[in-house]
Amino acid sequence: MARSAKFSLKLLVDEKKNKVVLAEAGHDFVDVLFGLLTLPMGTIARLLENHQKLPQVLGCYKNLKQSVSDMVIDDFETEACKSMLLSPKSSKEIHCRRLKLNIDDTAATTFYVCSKLYESDSCKVYSNFYNSRCSCGSLMSYSVQVPEDAQVLELLGNAVDGVFVSCRSSFIVTNDLKVMLNSIDEIVKVVNGLGYPNLNELQEMLIDVGSEEVLSLLGNLFTSESALTSTFLMKQSMTTMLPLPPPPMFKTGTVEQGSGCHMKVFVGKLDRKILYAECSEDFIDSLLTFLVLPLESASSLSNDNTIFGCVKNLCRCGYRRQFTYNLGLPGYYTCSKKLLEIASCPSLAYECLIPHKCYSSSLLKCARWFERSLLGKGDKVVTLNPIDPKNFKSCTSMIVDKGFVKRNTKFIVSDDLLITPMNKFSTIGLLKKMQINMNDFEAQSICIYKAEVCSFYILCWY
Ligand SMILES: [Zn+2]
Repeated sequence: MARSAKFSLKLLVDEKKNKVVLAEAGHDFVDVLFGLLTLPMGTIARLLENHQKLPQVLGCYKNLKQSVSDMVIDDFETEACKSMLLSPKSSKEIHCRRLKLNIDDTAATTFYVCSKLYESDSCKVYSNFYNSRCSCGSLMSYSVQVPEDAQVLELLGNAVDGVFVSCRSSFIVTNDLKVMLNSIDEIVKVVNGLGYPNLNELQEMLIDVGSEEVLSLLGNLFTSESALTSTFLMKQSMTTMLPLPPPPMFKTGTVEQGSGCHMKVFVGKLDRKILYAECSEDFIDSLLTFLVLPLESASSLSNDNTIFGCVKNLCRCGYRRQFTYNLGLPGYYTCSKKLLEIASCPSLAYECLIPHKCYSSSLLKCARWFERSLLGKGDKVVTLNPIDPKNFKSCTSMIVDKGFVKRNTKFIVSDDLLITPMNKFSTIGLLKKMQINMNDFEAQSICIYKAEVCSFYILCWY
Protein backbone atom coordinates (compact mmCIF):
# COMPACT_ATOMS: atom_id res chain seq x y z
CA MET A 1 0.00 0.00 0.00
CA ALA A 2 1.52 3.25 -1.16
CA ARG A 3 0.31 5.07 1.96
CA SER A 4 2.65 3.19 4.31
CA ALA A 5 5.94 3.88 2.51
CA LYS A 6 8.68 5.79 4.35
CA PHE A 7 11.49 8.00 3.12
CA SER A 8 14.77 8.78 4.75
CA LEU A 9 15.46 12.49 4.76
CA LYS A 10 18.69 14.11 5.90
CA LEU A 11 18.16 17.55 7.39
CA LEU A 12 20.80 20.18 8.00
CA VAL A 13 19.58 22.02 11.08
CA ASP A 14 20.54 25.16 12.98
CA GLU A 15 19.70 23.93 16.48
CA LYS A 16 20.19 27.33 18.12
CA LYS A 17 17.58 28.92 15.91
CA ASN A 18 15.52 25.71 15.68
CA LYS A 19 15.49 26.00 11.92
CA VAL A 20 15.97 23.64 8.98
CA VAL A 21 18.59 25.01 6.58
CA LEU A 22 18.09 22.39 3.88
CA ALA A 23 17.23 18.77 3.31
CA GLU A 24 18.94 16.16 1.20
CA ALA A 25 16.31 13.98 -0.45
CA GLY A 26 16.03 11.19 -2.98
CA HIS A 27 14.13 11.68 -6.23
CA ASP A 28 11.22 9.59 -4.91
CA PHE A 29 10.55 12.11 -2.12
CA VAL A 30 10.78 15.03 -4.57
CA ASP A 31 8.32 13.13 -6.76
CA VAL A 32 5.85 13.09 -3.85
CA LEU A 33 6.31 16.86 -3.43
CA PHE A 34 5.54 17.42 -7.12
CA GLY A 35 2.53 15.11 -6.78
CA LEU A 36 1.05 17.48 -4.15
CA LEU A 37 0.79 20.16 -6.88
CA THR A 38 -1.69 17.98 -8.77
CA LEU A 39 -4.16 17.46 -5.90
CA PRO A 40 -7.52 19.23 -6.23
CA MET A 41 -8.08 21.84 -3.49
CA GLY A 42 -11.23 20.05 -2.31
CA THR A 43 -9.22 16.84 -1.88
CA ILE A 44 -6.51 18.71 0.05
CA ALA A 45 -9.11 20.19 2.40
CA ARG A 46 -10.70 16.76 2.93
CA LEU A 47 -7.37 15.00 3.61
CA LEU A 48 -6.25 17.67 6.06
CA GLU A 49 -9.62 17.79 7.79
CA ASN A 50 -9.65 13.99 8.22
CA HIS A 51 -6.21 14.17 9.83
CA GLN A 52 -7.10 17.20 11.94
CA LYS A 53 -4.46 19.26 10.20
CA LEU A 54 -6.79 21.62 8.35
CA PRO A 55 -5.39 25.14 8.74
CA GLN A 56 -7.86 27.92 9.38
CA VAL A 57 -7.10 29.45 5.98
CA LEU A 58 -8.67 26.44 4.28
CA GLY A 59 -11.92 26.88 6.19
CA CYS A 60 -13.64 28.36 3.13
CA TYR A 61 -13.12 25.04 1.32
CA LYS A 62 -14.79 23.23 4.19
CA ASN A 63 -17.77 25.58 3.80
CA LEU A 64 -17.89 25.14 0.03
CA LYS A 65 -17.86 21.37 0.45
CA GLN A 66 -20.49 21.59 3.17
CA SER A 67 -22.67 23.67 0.85
CA VAL A 68 -22.42 20.99 -1.87
CA SER A 69 -23.26 18.28 0.70
CA ASP A 70 -26.26 20.22 1.98
CA MET A 71 -27.73 20.96 -1.44
CA VAL A 72 -30.11 18.31 -2.77
CA ILE A 73 -29.76 16.62 -6.17
CA ASP A 74 -32.50 18.87 -7.50
CA ASP A 75 -30.26 21.93 -6.92
CA PHE A 76 -27.74 20.53 -9.42
CA GLU A 77 -28.00 20.00 -13.17
CA THR A 78 -27.56 16.24 -12.70
CA GLU A 79 -26.95 13.71 -9.94
CA ALA A 80 -23.36 13.34 -11.25
CA CYS A 81 -22.66 17.07 -10.65
CA LYS A 82 -22.90 16.61 -6.90
CA SER A 83 -20.57 13.61 -6.76
CA MET A 84 -18.01 15.14 -9.13
CA LEU A 85 -17.70 18.11 -6.76
CA LEU A 86 -17.73 16.12 -3.52
CA SER A 87 -14.98 13.75 -4.74
CA PRO A 88 -12.92 15.93 -7.08
CA LYS A 89 -10.89 14.08 -9.69
CA SER A 90 -7.41 15.04 -10.79
CA SER A 91 -6.11 14.70 -14.33
CA LYS A 92 -2.97 13.16 -12.78
CA GLU A 93 -4.71 10.68 -10.47
CA ILE A 94 -3.15 7.63 -12.13
CA HIS A 95 0.32 9.16 -11.99
CA CYS A 96 -0.08 9.80 -8.26
CA ARG A 97 -0.93 6.15 -7.70
CA ARG A 98 2.52 5.28 -9.13
CA LEU A 99 4.30 7.37 -6.49
CA LYS A 100 6.19 5.63 -3.73
CA LEU A 101 3.85 7.37 -1.29
CA ASN A 102 0.37 8.49 -2.36
CA ILE A 103 -1.57 10.34 0.32
CA ASP A 104 -4.67 10.70 -1.86
CA ASP A 105 -7.22 8.00 -1.02
CA THR A 106 -9.78 9.07 -3.65
CA ALA A 107 -11.34 6.01 -5.32
CA ALA A 108 -9.92 5.10 -8.73
CA THR A 109 -11.74 6.45 -11.78
CA THR A 110 -14.48 4.13 -13.00
CA PHE A 111 -16.05 4.05 -16.46
CA TYR A 112 -19.82 3.70 -16.74
CA VAL A 113 -21.89 2.81 -19.79
CA CYS A 114 -25.59 2.51 -20.58
CA SER A 115 -27.33 -0.89 -20.47
CA LYS A 116 -28.41 -0.38 -24.12
CA LEU A 117 -24.82 -0.13 -25.35
CA TYR A 118 -25.35 -3.29 -27.42
CA GLU A 119 -28.48 -2.03 -29.13
CA SER A 120 -28.34 1.65 -29.92
CA ASP A 121 -25.69 3.75 -31.66
CA SER A 122 -26.57 6.75 -29.51
CA CYS A 123 -25.57 4.74 -26.43
CA LYS A 124 -21.91 4.34 -27.49
CA VAL A 125 -20.79 6.78 -24.82
CA TYR A 126 -19.21 6.57 -21.37
CA SER A 127 -19.03 8.71 -18.24
CA ASN A 128 -16.68 8.61 -15.26
CA PHE A 129 -19.59 9.24 -12.88
CA TYR A 130 -22.22 6.77 -11.76
CA ASN A 131 -25.75 7.44 -12.97
CA SER A 132 -24.81 10.05 -15.55
CA ARG A 133 -27.54 10.49 -18.13
CA CYS A 134 -26.95 8.63 -21.42
CA SER A 135 -27.94 10.15 -24.78
CA CYS A 136 -30.96 7.83 -24.81
CA GLY A 137 -32.13 9.19 -21.47
CA SER A 138 -31.23 6.11 -19.36
CA LEU A 139 -28.92 6.27 -16.39
CA MET A 140 -25.42 4.88 -16.98
CA SER A 141 -24.72 2.39 -14.21
CA TYR A 142 -22.80 -0.49 -15.84
CA SER A 143 -19.08 -0.29 -15.13
CA VAL A 144 -16.45 -1.33 -17.68
CA GLN A 145 -12.72 -1.76 -17.14
CA VAL A 146 -10.20 0.52 -18.85
CA PRO A 147 -6.53 -0.31 -18.15
CA GLU A 148 -4.67 2.52 -16.37
CA ASP A 149 -2.02 2.79 -19.08
CA ALA A 150 -4.77 3.43 -21.65
CA GLN A 151 -6.13 6.36 -19.63
CA VAL A 152 -3.06 8.60 -19.98
CA LEU A 153 -1.38 10.03 -23.06
CA GLU A 154 2.20 10.10 -21.77
CA LEU A 155 4.37 7.17 -20.77
CA LEU A 156 3.75 6.45 -17.11
CA GLY A 157 6.77 6.49 -14.85
CA ASN A 158 6.91 4.36 -11.75
CA ALA A 159 8.47 4.37 -8.31
CA VAL A 160 11.85 3.53 -9.83
CA ASP A 161 11.94 5.89 -12.81
CA GLY A 162 10.22 8.89 -11.31
CA VAL A 163 6.63 9.85 -12.04
CA PHE A 164 6.78 13.65 -12.16
CA VAL A 165 10.50 14.20 -11.60
CA SER A 166 12.64 14.25 -14.74
CA CYS A 167 16.03 13.43 -13.29
CA ARG A 168 17.15 10.44 -11.24
CA SER A 169 19.49 12.31 -8.97
CA SER A 170 19.37 13.18 -5.33
CA PHE A 171 18.13 16.67 -4.57
CA ILE A 172 18.49 19.53 -2.13
CA VAL A 173 15.26 21.00 -0.83
CA THR A 174 15.42 24.37 0.93
CA ASN A 175 13.30 25.35 3.91
CA ASP A 176 10.91 27.19 1.55
CA LEU A 177 10.83 24.25 -0.91
CA LYS A 178 13.17 25.37 -3.64
CA VAL A 179 14.35 22.12 -5.23
CA MET A 180 17.77 21.77 -6.88
CA LEU A 181 20.14 19.02 -7.88
CA ASN A 182 22.39 17.82 -5.08
CA SER A 183 25.92 19.14 -5.55
CA ILE A 184 28.62 20.62 -3.36
CA ASP A 185 28.41 24.08 -4.89
CA GLU A 186 24.60 24.25 -4.53
CA ILE A 187 24.86 23.31 -0.83
CA VAL A 188 27.61 25.90 -0.31
CA LYS A 189 25.49 28.51 -2.10
CA VAL A 190 22.41 27.83 0.07
CA VAL A 191 24.38 27.66 3.34
CA ASN A 192 26.43 30.81 2.57
CA GLY A 193 23.33 32.60 1.34
CA LEU A 194 21.77 32.08 4.78
CA GLY A 195 24.83 33.60 6.47
CA TYR A 196 26.69 30.47 7.60
CA PRO A 197 30.38 30.50 6.63
CA ASN A 198 30.59 26.68 6.83
CA LEU A 199 28.70 23.68 8.14
CA ASN A 200 30.37 23.67 11.58
CA GLU A 201 27.47 25.35 13.39
CA LEU A 202 24.92 23.10 11.72
CA GLN A 203 23.81 19.64 12.77
CA GLU A 204 22.79 16.69 10.68
CA MET A 205 19.50 15.02 11.49
CA LEU A 206 18.21 11.84 9.85
CA ILE A 207 14.44 11.47 9.89
CA ASP A 208 11.84 9.06 8.59
CA VAL A 209 9.06 10.63 6.56
CA GLY A 210 5.74 8.84 6.09
CA SER A 211 2.21 9.86 5.15
CA GLU A 212 1.62 11.74 8.45
CA GLU A 213 4.65 13.96 7.83
CA VAL A 214 3.68 14.56 4.18
CA LEU A 215 0.19 15.57 5.32
CA SER A 216 1.71 17.99 7.86
CA LEU A 217 3.92 19.39 5.15
CA LEU A 218 0.88 19.81 2.91
CA GLY A 219 -0.93 21.75 5.65
CA ASN A 220 2.14 23.92 6.28
CA LEU A 221 2.24 24.96 2.61
CA PHE A 222 -0.70 27.24 3.42
CA THR A 223 0.49 28.68 6.70
CA SER A 224 4.24 28.91 6.67
CA GLU A 225 7.08 30.29 4.58
CA SER A 226 9.39 27.75 6.25
CA ALA A 227 7.62 24.53 5.40
CA LEU A 228 10.41 22.13 6.46
CA THR A 229 11.03 23.81 9.83
CA SER A 230 7.30 23.93 10.58
CA THR A 231 6.84 20.27 9.65
CA PHE A 232 9.90 18.62 11.18
CA LEU A 233 10.92 20.88 14.07
CA MET A 234 7.75 22.68 15.20
CA LYS A 235 5.49 19.63 14.85
CA GLN A 236 2.57 21.97 14.44
CA SER A 237 1.56 24.49 11.86
CA MET A 238 3.14 27.88 12.27
CA THR A 239 1.10 30.78 11.04
CA THR A 240 3.05 33.48 9.35
CA MET A 241 1.29 36.76 8.85
CA LEU A 242 1.63 37.36 5.17
CA PRO A 243 0.56 40.64 3.57
CA LEU A 244 -3.05 40.93 2.52
CA PRO A 245 -3.65 41.58 -1.17
CA PRO A 246 -5.54 44.76 -2.05
CA PRO A 247 -9.31 44.27 -1.95
CA PRO A 248 -10.97 43.75 -5.32
CA MET A 249 -12.42 46.83 -6.97
CA PHE A 250 -15.95 45.93 -7.91
CA LYS A 251 -17.58 47.77 -10.76
CA THR A 252 -21.15 48.83 -10.33
CA GLY A 253 -23.58 49.12 -13.19
CA THR A 254 -24.02 47.06 -16.33
CA VAL A 255 -21.98 44.06 -17.43
CA GLU A 256 -19.40 44.81 -20.13
CA GLN A 257 -19.17 42.64 -23.21
CA GLY A 258 -17.45 39.38 -22.28
CA SER A 259 -17.83 36.90 -19.53
CA GLY A 260 -18.79 38.77 -16.41
CA CYS A 261 -21.60 38.07 -13.99
CA HIS A 262 -23.98 40.28 -12.10
CA MET A 263 -24.66 40.01 -8.42
CA LYS A 264 -26.29 41.99 -5.70
CA VAL A 265 -24.26 42.44 -2.52
CA PHE A 266 -25.39 43.49 0.91
CA VAL A 267 -22.52 45.64 2.14
CA GLY A 268 -21.61 47.56 5.32
CA LYS A 269 -21.79 51.34 4.74
CA LEU A 270 -18.75 52.00 6.92
CA ASP A 271 -16.39 49.03 6.53
CA ARG A 272 -17.55 48.09 2.98
CA LYS A 273 -17.49 44.47 4.11
CA ILE A 274 -19.76 42.22 2.11
CA LEU A 275 -22.16 40.36 4.34
CA TYR A 276 -24.07 38.37 1.76
CA ALA A 277 -24.28 38.21 -2.01
CA GLU A 278 -27.25 37.26 -4.15
CA CYS A 279 -26.06 35.77 -7.39
CA SER A 280 -26.92 33.50 -10.29
CA GLU A 281 -25.64 30.07 -11.27
CA ASP A 282 -22.61 31.37 -13.25
CA PHE A 283 -20.90 32.76 -10.18
CA ILE A 284 -21.75 29.65 -8.15
CA ASP A 285 -20.19 27.45 -10.87
CA SER A 286 -17.00 29.55 -10.60
CA LEU A 287 -16.97 29.27 -6.81
CA LEU A 288 -17.50 25.50 -6.94
CA THR A 289 -14.64 25.22 -9.46
CA PHE A 290 -12.36 26.25 -6.55
CA LEU A 291 -12.99 22.74 -5.13
CA VAL A 292 -11.62 20.97 -8.21
CA LEU A 293 -8.66 23.25 -8.98
CA PRO A 294 -5.29 21.50 -8.72
CA LEU A 295 -3.00 23.17 -6.16
CA GLU A 296 -0.69 24.43 -8.91
CA SER A 297 -3.56 26.12 -10.80
CA ALA A 298 -4.86 27.59 -7.52
CA SER A 299 -1.46 29.14 -6.79
CA SER A 300 -1.30 30.58 -10.31
CA LEU A 301 -4.35 32.72 -9.53
CA SER A 302 -2.50 34.58 -6.79
CA ASN A 303 0.31 37.10 -6.88
CA ASP A 304 3.73 36.30 -5.39
CA ASN A 305 3.15 37.87 -1.98
CA THR A 306 0.39 35.61 -0.81
CA ILE A 307 0.32 32.32 1.03
CA PHE A 308 1.53 30.24 -1.89
CA GLY A 309 5.26 31.08 -1.56
CA CYS A 310 6.44 27.49 -0.98
CA VAL A 311 4.03 26.15 -3.62
CA LYS A 312 5.34 28.62 -6.19
CA ASN A 313 8.92 27.58 -5.44
CA LEU A 314 7.96 23.95 -6.06
CA CYS A 315 6.18 24.90 -9.30
CA ARG A 316 9.25 26.73 -10.59
CA CYS A 317 11.56 23.73 -10.19
CA GLY A 318 13.17 22.81 -13.53
CA TYR A 319 13.35 19.09 -12.88
CA ARG A 320 9.76 18.19 -13.63
CA ARG A 321 8.74 16.06 -16.57
CA GLN A 322 7.41 18.26 -19.36
CA PHE A 323 3.76 17.13 -19.18
CA THR A 324 3.49 18.10 -15.50
CA TYR A 325 3.79 21.81 -16.32
CA ASN A 326 0.38 21.77 -17.98
CA LEU A 327 -1.94 20.61 -15.25
CA GLY A 328 -5.47 21.11 -16.36
CA LEU A 329 -8.87 20.23 -15.06
CA PRO A 330 -10.41 17.05 -16.44
CA GLY A 331 -12.57 18.26 -19.36
CA TYR A 332 -15.89 17.40 -17.71
CA TYR A 333 -15.36 20.19 -15.14
CA THR A 334 -15.51 22.90 -17.79
CA CYS A 335 -18.55 25.17 -17.45
CA SER A 336 -19.83 27.33 -20.27
CA LYS A 337 -19.14 30.62 -18.53
CA LYS A 338 -15.42 30.46 -17.81
CA LEU A 339 -14.67 33.28 -15.42
CA LEU A 340 -11.39 31.65 -14.41
CA GLU A 341 -10.06 30.35 -17.74
CA ILE A 342 -8.40 27.25 -16.35
CA ALA A 343 -6.92 24.91 -18.95
CA SER A 344 -8.69 21.57 -19.32
CA CYS A 345 -7.61 18.14 -20.52
CA PRO A 346 -10.23 16.67 -22.86
CA SER A 347 -11.47 13.19 -22.01
CA LEU A 348 -10.28 10.46 -24.39
CA ALA A 349 -12.33 8.19 -26.64
CA TYR A 350 -11.87 4.42 -26.20
CA GLU A 351 -12.56 1.35 -28.21
CA CYS A 352 -14.76 -1.24 -26.59
CA LEU A 353 -14.55 -4.90 -27.58
CA ILE A 354 -17.93 -6.63 -27.40
CA PRO A 355 -17.31 -10.40 -27.57
CA HIS A 356 -19.67 -12.53 -29.68
CA LYS A 357 -23.03 -12.98 -27.95
CA CYS A 358 -21.97 -10.86 -24.97
CA TYR A 359 -24.72 -9.49 -22.79
CA SER A 360 -22.79 -8.64 -19.64
CA SER A 361 -20.76 -5.49 -19.10
CA SER A 362 -18.21 -7.50 -17.06
CA LEU A 363 -17.11 -9.19 -20.31
CA LEU A 364 -16.49 -5.93 -22.13
CA LYS A 365 -12.90 -4.86 -22.64
CA CYS A 366 -11.78 -1.34 -23.37
CA ALA A 367 -8.55 0.02 -24.79
CA ARG A 368 -7.40 2.95 -26.84
CA TRP A 369 -7.20 0.67 -29.88
CA PHE A 370 -7.69 -3.05 -30.68
CA GLU A 371 -5.65 -4.87 -33.30
CA ARG A 372 -8.38 -6.00 -35.71
CA SER A 373 -6.56 -9.14 -36.89
CA LEU A 374 -6.66 -10.50 -33.32
CA LEU A 375 -10.44 -10.29 -32.97
CA GLY A 376 -12.46 -13.51 -32.63
CA LYS A 377 -15.28 -14.46 -34.99
CA GLY A 378 -18.37 -12.38 -34.23
CA ASP A 379 -16.48 -9.96 -31.93
CA LYS A 380 -17.42 -6.35 -32.44
CA VAL A 381 -15.44 -3.19 -31.73
CA VAL A 382 -17.28 0.07 -31.05
CA THR A 383 -15.94 3.51 -30.16
CA LEU A 384 -17.02 4.95 -26.82
CA ASN A 385 -16.99 8.73 -26.69
CA PRO A 386 -17.04 10.69 -23.43
CA ILE A 387 -20.35 12.25 -22.45
CA ASP A 388 -20.60 15.39 -20.35
CA PRO A 389 -21.90 14.25 -16.94
CA LYS A 390 -23.35 17.74 -16.41
CA ASN A 391 -25.77 17.18 -19.30
CA PHE A 392 -29.26 16.23 -18.34
CA LYS A 393 -30.47 15.94 -21.92
CA SER A 394 -29.19 14.14 -24.98
CA CYS A 395 -25.55 14.98 -25.79
CA THR A 396 -26.57 15.64 -29.36
CA SER A 397 -28.90 18.47 -28.39
CA MET A 398 -27.52 21.98 -28.63
CA ILE A 399 -26.93 22.83 -25.00
CA VAL A 400 -24.79 25.91 -24.70
CA ASP A 401 -25.28 26.69 -21.05
CA LYS A 402 -23.45 24.04 -19.05
CA GLY A 403 -22.61 24.13 -15.38
CA PHE A 404 -22.88 22.28 -12.08
CA VAL A 405 -25.92 23.91 -10.53
CA LYS A 406 -29.44 24.21 -11.90
CA ARG A 407 -29.79 26.94 -14.54
CA ASN A 408 -31.89 30.03 -13.87
CA THR A 409 -31.54 29.68 -10.12
CA LYS A 410 -30.67 32.36 -7.59
CA PHE A 411 -28.31 31.63 -4.73
CA ILE A 412 -27.20 33.43 -1.63
CA VAL A 413 -23.53 33.29 -0.60
CA SER A 414 -22.25 34.29 2.82
CA ASP A 415 -18.94 36.04 3.43
CA ASP A 416 -17.36 32.71 4.44
CA LEU A 417 -18.60 30.99 1.25
CA LEU A 418 -21.62 29.08 2.47
CA ILE A 419 -23.93 28.74 -0.52
CA THR A 420 -27.70 28.29 -0.21
CA PRO A 421 -30.22 28.15 -3.06
CA MET A 422 -32.63 31.08 -2.69
CA ASN A 423 -35.63 28.77 -2.68
CA LYS A 424 -34.35 27.16 0.55
CA PHE A 425 -33.34 30.40 2.18
CA SER A 426 -35.32 32.61 4.49
CA THR A 427 -34.20 36.21 4.04
CA ILE A 428 -36.44 37.29 6.92
CA GLY A 429 -34.86 34.59 9.10
CA LEU A 430 -31.37 35.82 8.22
CA LEU A 431 -32.11 39.47 8.99
CA LYS A 432 -33.74 38.48 12.29
CA LYS A 433 -30.83 36.21 13.24
CA MET A 434 -28.12 38.74 12.51
CA GLN A 435 -29.85 41.46 14.50
CA ILE A 436 -28.19 44.12 12.43
CA ASN A 437 -29.18 47.69 12.09
CA MET A 438 -30.64 47.86 8.61
CA ASN A 439 -29.48 51.46 8.23
CA ASP A 440 -25.82 50.39 8.49
CA PHE A 441 -26.04 48.32 5.30
CA GLU A 442 -26.94 48.92 1.72
CA ALA A 443 -27.62 46.75 -1.32
CA GLN A 444 -25.37 47.28 -4.35
CA SER A 445 -25.37 45.78 -7.82
CA ILE A 446 -21.88 44.78 -8.91
CA CYS A 447 -20.40 42.77 -11.73
CA ILE A 448 -17.60 40.29 -11.44
CA TYR A 449 -14.94 39.48 -14.02
CA LYS A 450 -11.92 37.21 -14.00
CA ALA A 451 -9.76 39.66 -11.99
CA GLU A 452 -12.44 40.03 -9.31
CA VAL A 453 -12.97 36.27 -9.08
CA CYS A 454 -9.20 35.82 -8.56
CA SER A 455 -9.16 38.53 -5.88
CA PHE A 456 -12.21 36.99 -4.30
CA TYR A 457 -10.47 33.64 -4.38
CA ILE A 458 -7.40 34.96 -2.59
CA LEU A 459 -9.39 37.04 -0.12
CA CYS A 460 -11.39 34.05 0.99
CA TRP A 461 -8.22 32.62 2.51
CA TYR A 462 -7.90 35.36 5.09
ZN1 LIG B 1 -28.30 4.74 -23.63
